[in-house]
Amino acid sequence: MARLKVISGLNRKSAAIFLVEAEGKRVLFDFGDGLDKDEHPDIGAIGTVDAVFLSHAHRDHAGSLDHLDDIGNPCVFATGRTLGFLKGEHAPSAAEIIPEQGSFEACGLSLTTGRCGHAPGGVWFHMQTPSGNFIYTGDISLESRGMPFDYPPPASTLVVDASYGDRAQALEDQIAAMSAYAEGGAVLCCPSAGRGTDMALALAARGHQVHVSADVGEEIDAATGRSFSVVDGESATPRQVIVATEANAEAGLSAALLARGGFRFVFSSHVPNGTPARRLIDRSEAVWLAWNVHPRRGDVIALADHCGARQVLPAFVDMAAAPALARDLGARLRLEPETEI
Ligand SMILES: [Zn+2]
Repeated sequence: MARLKVISGLNRKSAAIFLVEAEGKRVLFDFGDGLDKDEHPDIGAIGTVDAVFLSHAHRDHAGSLDHLDDIGNPCVFATGRTLGFLKGEHAPSAAEIIPEQGSFEACGLSLTTGRCGHAPGGVWFHMQTPSGNFIYTGDISLESRGMPFDYPPPASTLVVDASYGDRAQALEDQIAAMSAYAEGGAVLCCPSAGRGTDMALALAARGHQVHVSADVGEEIDAATGRSFSVVDGESATPRQVIVATEANAEAGLSAALLARGGFRFVFSSHVPNGTPARRLIDRSEAVWLAWNVHPRRGDVIALADHCGARQVLPAFVDMAAAPALARDLGARLRLEPETEI
């Protein structure tokens, strides 16, 4: 028998931590931290685990890695690119590289990975279980142009990124809106290891001369071999279209340009309280425009259908605010903190 215990990540956008007990082992899928500054998961409730399987390097999925001591210092399994993004403060001492598309064994468990379409080097996990297999998607997107999504094999239980709840708008329409707003110059803020490549390619395809921060330039080069004009805190000008980290102007080139003044800012990520982005948006000094990096309602349903899932746990969303998704999932919807898988 295998059991899933949700430590954090159901009912709202929060830290991703899902515990699976199988074959006498205890393993975690993701080990994230809260997105708001003072919000942290209850790591003390986890106990000792044998392994951590990491989907990608974003804070809400990997931000608790500096607390590995508290869960018995397990080995962290992640792709080479994800581990590369973790260099520095969150780098685990014991790590094993897993394929972006392929299979591997860990702790006597058989797992398969595929590309998630959400972050460079990011993956979903498929695990063999006695009740018909288990999928944990981490964060996924089925719409990215620069990052492919691989459809996973069948599974009876699916923990799926449903961050956008009922949202149905297509990325293509959002790109048109972003492109229109960027006429005359704008700083398009994005997270490291995130949507920067897609943003630069999409805006360039619509005829903009796109400039980028140095880290976004490196990501584009690694993903596509293309080079974009790199600007910094001194050389950037307000009339340029600039794709820059970080997502909420809390660090990086976007923070430097905010400090300099005179730039128009566009935010498109989750905006936590206490960030410069929150302050600017609340004062109507910046705009927020949608840019899908998570699945739409129809994408979640298509994936559940594709996998033949009988139990679907929609993660990172308040399902009370997603009545259409709840209706479409029907008898498959599960929101209990413990489920046999
Ligand atoms: Zn993410």
